[in-house]
Amino acid sequence: MDPSAGTRLAAWIHRRAEGEPVAYILGRRGFWGLDFEVTPDVLVPRPDTETLVEAALPLVADEASVLDVGTGCGNVVLALASERPRAQFTATDIDPACIALCRRNAARLGLAVTTRIADGLDGLDGPFDVVVGNPPYVDDADARLGQGDLRFEPRRALVGGPNGGLDVIARLIRKAPDRLATGGWLCLEHGDEQGDEVASLFEDRGFVDIRGHMDLANRPRVTVGRWHGGTS
Ligand code: GLN
Repeated sequence: MDPSAGTRLAAWIHRRAEGEPVAYILGRRGFWGLDFEVTPDVLVPRPDTETLVEAALPLVADEASVLDVGTGCGNVVLALASERPRAQFTATDIDPACIALCRRNAARLGLAVTTRIADGLDGLDGPFDVVVGNPPYVDDADARLGQGDLRFEPRRALVGGPNGGLDVIARLIRKAPDRLATGGWLCLEHGDEQGDEVASLFEDRGFVDIRGHMDLANRPRVTVGRWHGGTS
């Protein structure tokens, strides 16, 4: 190993020993078999979130229009785009740095996605056939926010409010029908103890065909529902 590589490796080891996620140190993380650039502006893509891609994929027809809300580095939308080359993809994020990163990842992977800086579903057109999202859903008071890799990740991508962390998810479920085509699907990741409550929110809003999906540890982590197309 040449001396400069040794120095670099020592610096990386020091950062990891301080607890920084490997993905931020290397600036890279694999997801759905694709290689993504990641920065501390975004949540590190997690294997759990491949459950969201798996749940959404059968709902994305060849020429569907798909929206990913709160895209981060773009891992969910670009994984879907890699599987459905003829569909139309839009990705939003409130943070311009995330949008810039998503665009870099799309360019590097040779995948097409339209991007918008937006807060949730505000200011978008549509209608979309499928809306997907991995929104922040950790409770403000969750002790895990002060531990391990989560300490280094953007709070805005993690924290979904007090009293259960469901504020952002509830708002998305309330507003999604305004952006969904008749028969369109909303697919959301959530915490492993939030499945029942999220399903109730879908039901109360008038979604039908509501289904939960399990992650690899067999915990309920994704809920999907279809918008019947009536007045929202
Ligand atoms: N699953 C993540 C965690 O608890 C949180 C991701 C999110 O809030 N969207 O580590």
